[in-house]
Amino acid sequence: MPSPSTPACACPPALLEDVPLVIRLEREVASEFREQQRLRLEEKIRAVDASLAGHVPCCAICHRPMKNRGRKRSSFFSRFGKITMHPTKYICAPCKIGVRPLIDALGVEMGRISGSLARLLAVLGTVMPYQLAAHVAFLFFGIEVSAMAVWRAVQRLGEACDQYQEAQAAYHTGAHAEIGEPDAAPQVVVAGVDGCALGMQVRTTRRHRKTADEVLPPLPPVEDGHFREVKTGVLLLPSHRTEPSPGRRALVRRVLVTCLGNADRIFDHLWTKLILLGWLGSQTIVVIVGDGAEWIWNRAALFANRCEILDFWHAMEKAWEFARLRHGEGSKTAARWVSRIADDLRKGSVEAVIARLYTLKARSPEEQDKLDGLIKYYTDNACRMRYDEYIRLGYGIGSGAVESAHKQVVQARLRQAGMRWSEAGARRLLALRVLLLNNDWSTLDRLSMKSFAA
Ligand SMILES: [Zn+2]
Repeated sequence: MPSPSTPACACPPALLEDVPLVIRLEREVASEFREQQRLRLEEKIRAVDASLAGHVPCCAICHRPMKNRGRKRSSFFSRFGKITMHPTKYICAPCKIGVRPLIDALGVEMGRISGSLARLLAVLGTVMPYQLAAHVAFLFFGIEVSAMAVWRAVQRLGEACDQYQEAQAAYHTGAHAEIGEPDAAPQVVVAGVDGCALGMQVRTTRRHRKTADEVLPPLPPVEDGHFREVKTGVLLLPSHRTEPSPGRRALVRRVLVTCLGNADRIFDHLWTKLILLGWLGSQTIVVIVGDGAEWIWNRAALFANRCEILDFWHAMEKAWEFARLRHGEGSKTAARWVSRIADDLRKGSVEAVIARLYTLKARSPEEQDKLDGLIKYYTDNACRMRYDEYIRLGYGIGSGAVESAHKQVVQARLRQAGMRWSEAGARRLLALRVLLLNNDWSTLDRLSMKSFAA
């Protein structure tokens, strides 16, 4: 039965009779040359192998020449399909170690998806759920892979990336690290921080089906205490803010960092990024924009030359909470009341706003609580609410960039319906998302895949 809003139609919609010729030709070429590409890759690998012949490696422990134990067939999965080769194995019996120089030279992992294919699968798994990523991999590269293969690529490369980022932070925040004076350090850099909770798995082991068609019961809802905080930090230069058309703001460049859990770490990562970017000179003012969360201001002290700003929109939201309670949801009086506060705060008259709040008479204990909360929030943060000055200096007053960054890093991939994460799984995926969103994906080409514990 057609629904009343749909006009009746006599015949079903038609698809094209045939797939357009150009698409068929493209696919023909791809399948013709795919085998040639695979063979050519094997040929190039044989050439590398030949170039290694005669070089007897020395043991890494005792430094004596190692013993040739002959060749053994092995394979890996490349962008062009399965590659077979016969690398020579050398061993040092007393030290109990073995090497296969060809495998090391290539940087592949035997029996596994390696090289550029692993990185392509990881990029798909970084932007979309693993099952969907496996499907898209087929559409793009004509390669059939399982969701598990995508998951594995993300875990192995994500672990490598996370370890690298952690090591960088450990180095640059360590006592031994020298803080140079970068050539073109900016006068001002804005750093914003935001956080959200992520539902974590309660189980310590993965669930496995006993038979292929066993349906696993749904996961229990996430209970309190099974959330971990994800923090996102964003760095930008005020000079990179543009307004391409009136009212539409854009950013030329912003740099993201993220971490799961420990609040201290996000500031370590911000610090490290600033050093790596050459954005932290001895005269650079670090403008820190945050909500009222105490931990942000406690850690902000890391930057000697700083300006702390309470995010204007958080300041407004607090006013709205009280206004809605006092005047009712959607009331014009509430809107007028909040808008006057906004105007005054923009003018830098936070003291006048607080004084006015003190003259209000609450009409219920609940209202009194909210009012007290609002007064305390503005009083505690008054020194971070000199919005007239921040506007004049071009620092900006809101963390819109942080919120949108946070949504892109976390929400868009990790907070979809029913998603639950293991600590390690979330950590690895976040590391890769930041790499991708920062336009640094090519860094992965220079990191070896890491084995991991699920
Ligand atoms: Zn040895």
